[in-house]
Amino acid sequence: MAHVKGLRCRECSRDYPIEPIYVCEFCFGPLEVVYDYESIRGVLTRDEIRSRPQNLWRYRELLPVEGEPVVGKQSGFTPLIKADRLARAIGVDELYIKDDTVTHPTLSFKDRVVSVALSKASEFGFDTVACASTGNLAHAVAAQGAAGGFRRFVFIPATLERSKIVASLAYEPNVMAVEGNYDDVNRLCSEIANKYRWAFVNINIRPYYAEGSKTQGHEICEQLGWKAPDHVVVPCASGSLLTKIWKSFEEMHKLDLIPELRSKVFAAQPTGCSPISVAVKTQSEVIRPVKPDTIARSLAIGNPADGYYASRVVHNTGGWAEDATDQEIVDAMKLLARTEGIFAETAGGVTLACAIKLLQSGKLPREGSTVLCITGNGMKTKEALDGQVDNPHRIKPNLGSFEEVLSRIGDHG
Ligand SMILES: *Cc1c(COP(=O)(O)O)cnc(C)c1O
Ligand SMILES: [Zn+2]
Repeated sequence: MAHVKGLRCRECSRDYPIEPIYVCEFCFGPLEVVYDYESIRGVLTRDEIRSRPQNLWRYRELLPVEGEPVVGKQSGFTPLIKADRLARAIGVDELYIKDDTVTHPTLSFKDRVVSVALSKASEFGFDTVACASTGNLAHAVAAQGAAGGFRRFVFIPATLERSKIVASLAYEPNVMAVEGNYDDVNRLCSEIANKYRWAFVNINIRPYYAEGSKTQGHEICEQLGWKAPDHVVVPCASGSLLTKIWKSFEEMHKLDLIPELRSKVFAAQPTGCSPISVAVKTQSEVIRPVKPDTIARSLAIGNPADGYYASRVVHNTGGWAEDATDQEIVDAMKLLARTEGIFAETAGGVTLACAIKLLQSGKLPREGSTVLCITGNGMKTKEALDGQVDNPHRIKPNLGSFEEVLSRIGDHG
């Protein structure tokens, strides 16, 4: 592992070897993977990256996997879409959508983190993989774990959307529906992880898992023509994705792959679970845990593990945070679908709804380039649109019946 130096505590900077550990023995701070950027600089050039297959492994020197990945070989490198129609609708100059609704194989950005986590779990010699999930992670572990030949345990809150539960069950892992919210699920999984030698991707494998999120940011810079966006809006659950997108921009800059770095990072949360956005908006150093109540179930983490670090990134980059109500989330899902033809899950509605509110408050400038991170597919949370979309026009199978409706429709649709 030439390019990975080891793990380091984010609080006290104590160094640790590459092992399935995640917390500092001395200060209980979280551990993070550190790289030898000097050695990577000579290898990972723009030309080299461009010559590689279009998946997340084109940034492999910046990922903590030593050998060949065992899963996720087609994950990542999702489209960055110039969203001109949406830009006009919400009043911004230059708008892009990082479209992780089409990530292979389970249609959310969690395929990125799971590709890295399971490949690392395999290197560590685990035969059982597991996770505590708000839905998408369970889906990705169930699917990619099957492809990698692992025994799988996924733990979810029992109240999750039915379509997400079915999506996980299809791959026949062991699905544990826990009577409690995500924070209860997570606490239980930490206990289990202490007792069983399993790879819990977002607990004992978390330092490696989290690195997978960086690839979304690497790709954004490459797809913008080797530059970082002026603004990026990121949905937050634990806050990990946001911190890793920032880390990826810093890496691109350190490696001279992008000329300058002035990006402002904005956090988006549902109002019914907004501990990070509340901390930013009240300029508090403390993340106050909440009991989630939101249709954006994939973001419903009341006690976010990386909340503090996410709020620091927002603060240090001059960004801001916002939160969106259930109705604003649905309206934004429909706006995105109507203008750009992208059907995102509730988390995507959160990102867009918060971007609109940030534009209205003037916190997010209308000038410059803005990237919205759209992280999951709408087919995964169809329930959110129950009663929120029109009924189809019911007609007889004849021209007259069709034209009778057509005359009423006018320009719509
Ligand atoms: C998990 C998830 C996120 C954010 O996750 P973090 O815990 O903040 O890294 C965003 N969008 C979707 C769809 C997710 O499933
Ligand atoms: Zn420490």
